[in-house]
Amino acid sequence: MPFEMYMPVRLVWGDGAVNADPGRFSQLGSRCLIVTGKHSAISSGALGDAQRALETAGVAYTLYDGIGQNPLISACHEAGAMARETGAQFILGIGGGSPLDAAKAVAAYASNPQLEASDIYKKIFAHAPLPVALIGTTAGTGSEVTAVSVLTDDATGRKKSISGPAFYAALAFADPKYTYSLDYDFTVSTALDAFAHNIEAWFTPKCGGVLKALAAEGFRLLWPSLTQLKNTGEVPGEATRANLYYGSIYAGMVINNCGTAFPHPVGYILTENCGVPHGKACAAFLPAFLERARRFAPDALTEALSIMGEDFDALLQTLRQLTNLPRFGFSREQAEAYAARWQDEPPLNFKSSPGSLTVAEAAGLLAEV
Ligand code: NAP
Ligand code: FE
Repeated sequence: MPFEMYMPVRLVWGDGAVNADPGRFSQLGSRCLIVTGKHSAISSGALGDAQRALETAGVAYTLYDGIGQNPLISACHEAGAMARETGAQFILGIGGGSPLDAAKAVAAYASNPQLEASDIYKKIFAHAPLPVALIGTTAGTGSEVTAVSVLTDDATGRKKSISGPAFYAALAFADPKYTYSLDYDFTVSTALDAFAHNIEAWFTPKCGGVLKALAAEGFRLLWPSLTQLKNTGEVPGEATRANLYYGSIYAGMVINNCGTAFPHPVGYILTENCGVPHGKACAAFLPAFLERARRFAPDALTEALSIMGEDFDALLQTLRQLTNLPRFGFSREQAEAYAARWQDEPPLNFKSSPGSLTVAEAAGLLAEV
């Protein structure tokens, strides 16, 4: 099978990335809408740096700070209208995966006034979305480099991802210092998300060549950092913060081309119904995923373990300890009701998992957590 990779985002990384060349912002337009959550853009220092860069570049801006975790399409739709009303020529998303994913949707709503909130899932845009710039403040999703936006439909409460070339940012910044303000629990959860991306994608049929090299580097950066988080129980220092952030970017490039596997869609159930943060929700299914990898893809597993310098049992133990969720105890009926959403159209993630997961098996996994 031939391998393929595409990643058209201009990524600027390292200390001081946002302010290194303010002209990058004015190249996107003379007015923007900044899209953030309530607190993190400010507490991380990213918003202040962005405002300074925009002012230096002569770019006017308005702030929309109404994006919550697992962003709602209604909030993105509202921000899209605000972008139009204020004459924004581009969208600047600042925050974790939620505001970054939201910014991609806001850009599509902004240039397409005819779209109702739920129309975004159809991905048919009469006008190209506005350009998007992103500044990340968590080391997890890789949304900076993916053509993916995960949005929650207000009507159903379900998370659904949309992807395609229209959802690439034009410009993205990865400066690890914005992640320093993240507390221990979110640091662990976002690190688990990045690791889940890397290891889920590793076992997909598309992970070869350059992508495998990126994933190998993802393991090298992420695994020692996760081990450190487990051993210390404390927020990490600057070097580990940088390893986590860059590891999440490597993993992001890999999932952008390979996709994720079953822990992601099955994990959505725990987020939607039990409020579990995204990374831990996916990580809850990593032990089952790795057991299947051991059965159906032993060589790829051995290679991953050797890159990480870890043995299988210790890997699972560390993941379980970091995930640290209570037992949910869904009944068999409840688990089957949750899994029914995949009955008509099982996600590609199931097929690309080792041994290919069936919907009945997904229900079984839900009944075990
Ligand atoms: P998040 O939902 O963006 O943020 C989680 C929490 O952390 C929020 O309370 C946020 O505060 C806070 N926070 C963020 N950065 C902070 C910082 N530097 N200091 C202090 N607090 C900070 O978390 P996330 O895990 O990064 O993103 C999860 C979302 O991304 C999910 O919806 C998931 O499905 C999606 N996702 C997308 C992709 C993709 O490829 N696009 C991949 C995986 C996951 P505020 O609310 O104040 O901002
Ligand atoms: Fe994820």
